[in-house]
Amino acid sequence: MKITLLGTGTPSPSLKRQSSGYLIEIGDDVIVMDHGPGAHHRLLEAGKQSTDVTHAFLSHLHYDHCLDYPRLVLQRWDIGADLVPDLKVFAPAPIKRMTEQLFGDGGVFDPDITARVKHQGSIDIFEARGGKAPRKRPAPEVTEIKPGDVIKGDSWTITVGEGSHVQPYLECYGFRLDSDEGSLCYSGDSGAVCPEIVKLATGVDVLIHMTHYRTGTEPTQIYRAVCGNHIDTAHVAKQAGVRTLVMTHFLEQIDQPGVREEILREMMQIYDGNIIWGEDLMEIPIKGPMMVPML
Ligand SMILES: [Zn+2]
Repeated sequence: MKITLLGTGTPSPSLKRQSSGYLIEIGDDVIVMDHGPGAHHRLLEAGKQSTDVTHAFLSHLHYDHCLDYPRLVLQRWDIGADLVPDLKVFAPAPIKRMTEQLFGDGGVFDPDITARVKHQGSIDIFEARGGKAPRKRPAPEVTEIKPGDVIKGDSWTITVGEGSHVQPYLECYGFRLDSDEGSLCYSGDSGAVCPEIVKLATGVDVLIHMTHYRTGTEPTQIYRAVCGNHIDTAHVAKQAGVRTLVMTHFLEQIDQPGVREEILREMMQIYDGNIIWGEDLMEIPIKGPMMVPML
């Protein structure tokens, strides 16, 4: 299993950190968890493309977690030329309605899709890529999920848990992946110390957790419950007993030399596992950092 961080940023514009996205390569499957703006660009930089992706899991439908979903579906459909199986998509409701409104008859991309399906020039390119006319429309295989659901792949199982974020307006989930090669929990945008996320993440090798704010700088207490802070993140990692905590979803204000070290020092007083300050395109060691002997 290989875990790569695609996007470790927020909705705020940043060239350094794209919005949320994570890549898990396991067996023959290539899974993306969230696909916010810029995550698809990072996917290409990580050496994969849309047609390699087999499964997409979306934790919630804030745009910083799903704006590259149409890009993934359309590029996969376009260059895939009906030669790759339909993308399997797992996300909270109303992902089915959203998908239909994007790619269905009369949807946002209907003029583009109609032109590519009907214009002879587009059909020629489609056939040059190996497709056989008539060309199908994009048809991702969409499943609406809820907490407690378990999705089984060839060599992995993903369990859905509830996060604490902006309910009841958006359902917000976390995902736990178990396999023979190790375990991972991605908490979505769960804020504060969420008991359901602690339970979901218990004992995993790698926990990827949002740290949007430095403790004490949240605009309001409601914001703290929604977005959490670095002390909350440390408590989640400690209570769940994870081997490695990967911090992500950073605002620029805490992503500064000096501030970063202070945050890590405070977190290490609470949680004594490995802490990794996530960066775009960073590959995460499943069993923790290797100890290199001193020469
Ligand atoms: Zn977010």
